[in-house]
Amino acid sequence: MAFDYDLFVIGGGSGGVRAARLASSEAGAKVALAEEFRMGGTCVIRGCVPKKLMVFASSYREMTVDAAAYGWDINIGDFNWPTFKGKLDLELDRLENAYRNTLARAGVEVFNERATIDDAHTIKLASGKTVTAKHILIATGGYPVKPDVPGADLAITSNEIFNLKELPKSVLIVGGGFIACEFACILNGLGVKVTQFYRGEQILRGFDLEATSMISDEMVKQGIKLRLDDNAASLEQTDGGILVTDTQGGTETYDQVMFATGRTPNTNGLGLEALGLELGRGGAIPVDKFSQTKVPSIFAVGDVTNRINLTPVAIREGAAFVETIFHGRPTSFDHDQVPSAVFTQPELGTVGMSEEEAAASEAIEVYSAAFKPMQSSFAGRDSKVLMKLVVSKATQRVLGCHIVADQAGEMIQLAGIAVKMGATKAQFDATCAVHPTMAEELVTMKTPVRTT
Ligand SMILES: Cc1cc2nc3c(=O)[nH]c(=O)nc-3n(C[C@H](O)[C@H](O)[C@H](O)COP(=O)(O)OP(=O)(O)OC[C@H]3O[C@@H](n4cnc5c(N)ncnc54)[C@H](O)[C@@H]3O)c2cc1C
Repeated sequence: MAFDYDLFVIGGGSGGVRAARLASSEAGAKVALAEEFRMGGTCVIRGCVPKKLMVFASSYREMTVDAAAYGWDINIGDFNWPTFKGKLDLELDRLENAYRNTLARAGVEVFNERATIDDAHTIKLASGKTVTAKHILIATGGYPVKPDVPGADLAITSNEIFNLKELPKSVLIVGGGFIACEFACILNGLGVKVTQFYRGEQILRGFDLEATSMISDEMVKQGIKLRLDDNAASLEQTDGGILVTDTQGGTETYDQVMFATGRTPNTNGLGLEALGLELGRGGAIPVDKFSQTKVPSIFAVGDVTNRINLTPVAIREGAAFVETIFHGRPTSFDHDQVPSAVFTQPELGTVGMSEEEAAASEAIEVYSAAFKPMQSSFAGRDSKVLMKLVVSKATQRVLGCHIVADQAGEMIQLAGIAVKMGATKAQFDATCAVHPTMAEELVTMKTPVRTT
């Protein structure tokens, strides 16, 4: 049977764009892609990129305080959100255009509309047009969900935070995951009065507990009102703002409430159930290691599969799909030891197992150094950093590396190479220190602080 396309990609985000470009420009396939919102997807339009620019914007206040302590005659005024927002919008337009140009140069045909699946080889576009493809790649990502509490529609999510007309004076952030914590730090840095509720015992669940405890301490020191074991029970609009009643019975009014309480795969109404595809938890598309679904012509990559929801993972999954299907080289992305960063202030850089995870599976040695770093200590700032290695007692292999410090994301990218290569503690130790740095601790910690 002749198809209109070799590949039809649904979703112009990190995974979809990479797969479409490679299949077309490197494998010579006839490719089309449908995007219902803006090209670039979550990462470019309402995720990593605008968020990181906000992280940069928010870090200048503390920098100027430190600069003054170092002898600079410097004063910082208020943050001007409209100025930043204007520049941010232009930057996102520029990036979206770059994505569109890349696809055009690669010869990918783009449909600026929603697409759904009619059958194993047929795609229906919102305009009513129907097209066929030998392979269909679903890369529709995810979307933020709000809890089912009275008044929830008064709150915003990370989707809306980038489009605020003005910055609120006070905000309640509900949630304890990386998005909640990052925005608590960002808004605090921009001068907003931040309260954060998290229903659990410690923020950033699943990450190394020593690291997350240090981050929560630092966030509190910086003025964030962090309330653990608490949650929003109801929201009500009043003349003074949004009145929030919490699960402990307290009430407080905020200018803005942001729910960062989780994301769910974007599979609603895609037509998958009619194909006999049973969806997994929260609507995720179950796939095998080659990102293939139970319907052989349909594949899925990125957040919609809810494996590891990060941009570089979606990109690698998309590239592996193209290798497998269009180059005939079966390739699967290795989801083990993926390094990642949480852009709180200070940042968390992490790769491999947390101490808790490793200790549950084998005997370990923990090497950890928490200290006041030279730069902020000189400025008189009371902040700490953490360098930590979790090591297998039996093999001496470094199972996990966790860094809490400014620029920890940059550091973990490099430490991640060693950990991924299976480096042992002795190999870390054999690497000469770079002095004076914070990261030199990673190669100079001689004695374990704990063994299990
Ligand atoms: C606030 C925030 C911050 C983040 N920060 C980071 C970070 O610092 N580092 C990191 O690695 N990751 C980060 N992420 C996660 C990262 O953005 C995602 O993992 C990544 O974008 C997933 O890519 P994807 O291709 O799976 O989906 P997406 O990038 O979400 O793209 C999916 C696209 O599909 C489109 N679409 C959906 N349904 C249809 C349809 N039926 N028809 C046509 N188009 C459709 C959507 O409009 C969207 O453009 C962040 C996410 C958020 C929300």
